[in-house]
Amino acid sequence: MTEAKKKKPARELISIIIPCYNEEEVIEQCHSAVTEVIDALPYDFEIIYINDGSRDNTRSMLDALHKKDKRAKIFHLSRNFGKEAAMTAGLDHAKGDAVIILDADLQDPPHLIPEMLRLWKEEKADVVYGQRLRRQGETWLKRKTARAFYKIINFISAIDIPVNTGDFRLMNRRALDALLKLRENHRFMKGLFAWIGFRQIALHYNREPRAAGTTKWNYIKLWNLALEGITGFSITPLRIASMFGFLISLFAFAFGIFIILHTLISSHDLPGYPSLMVMVTFLSGIQLLTIGILGEYIGRIFGETKKRPLYFIDETLE
Ligand code: UDP
Ligand code: MG
Repeated sequence: MTEAKKKKPARELISIIIPCYNEEEVIEQCHSAVTEVIDALPYDFEIIYINDGSRDNTRSMLDALHKKDKRAKIFHLSRNFGKEAAMTAGLDHAKGDAVIILDADLQDPPHLIPEMLRLWKEEKADVVYGQRLRRQGETWLKRKTARAFYKIINFISAIDIPVNTGDFRLMNRRALDALLKLRENHRFMKGLFAWIGFRQIALHYNREPRAAGTTKWNYIKLWNLALEGITGFSITPLRIASMFGFLISLFAFAFGIFIILHTLISSHDLPGYPSLMVMVTFLSGIQLLTIGILGEYIGRIFGETKKRPLYFIDETLE
């Protein structure tokens, strides 16, 4: 972890963190958009680019950027670890009094940085999170599934994750230090951001479509992320599983008594093949589902017990 604030500099330092995975098409555009905004602000800046194991020209482009602009600090990770780990790497190395996380594709507009800083300074916010009003360039299905996800996770977990909120946010030093104490391997950042608490203020904005390049997400990744979020912040699925088990046993017990009495009273045996089949298949379905839920949690435990570092850095240009 970093040694923040050795000597108090005259101007406060803001760290901007930009995770990049195969972003050769937007890196330069992103850097000039960010510098244009920050040049006008009364703070010192460091712009931390995390190259998350890109396979395109991102690496050499970032190296070139570092030569041109000393505010650009580059961390090349040893492979692709995923955005959550890449962000963590950036946060770990940020020296600022406040940090701002941005996407490289300019979907999180840099022109909001001054407003974020204002809310931090004037409204004493510990966290200023961007909240999207409109999700442009996203399909109907993506919007609906995102919405359903927020509903579910806020219903079954103790934390409240603000709707339509991504990673775009400012955090002050104490919120950042709190966040950095959470070293779990399965990192559902939206959940972790909400979990730390403190004074969090929303900043509304319209999310633009990507400036260039393509999204790094697909539905399988999103499904995994949703599972990560739910299993990381709630054990309600386990409770539902045991409740199911309890209700079904209760029903089975009553049904058993009914069958015994029915056989005794009417004294002819039942041709029960269809109902038997239905019960067997239904119950095996429930059993497999419950084992699956258990498996999800065991998988998480497995991941955490290994205590592996969250990422490795291949090269640093500071
Ligand atoms: N990203 C990353 N590692 C990954 C995937 C994405 O660092 O494995 C970065 C990516 O370069 C971008 C940000 O995370 O800066 C958001 O990615 P993307 O735009 O693909 O996601 P979306 O905006 O579609 O949710
Ligand atoms: Mg994007």
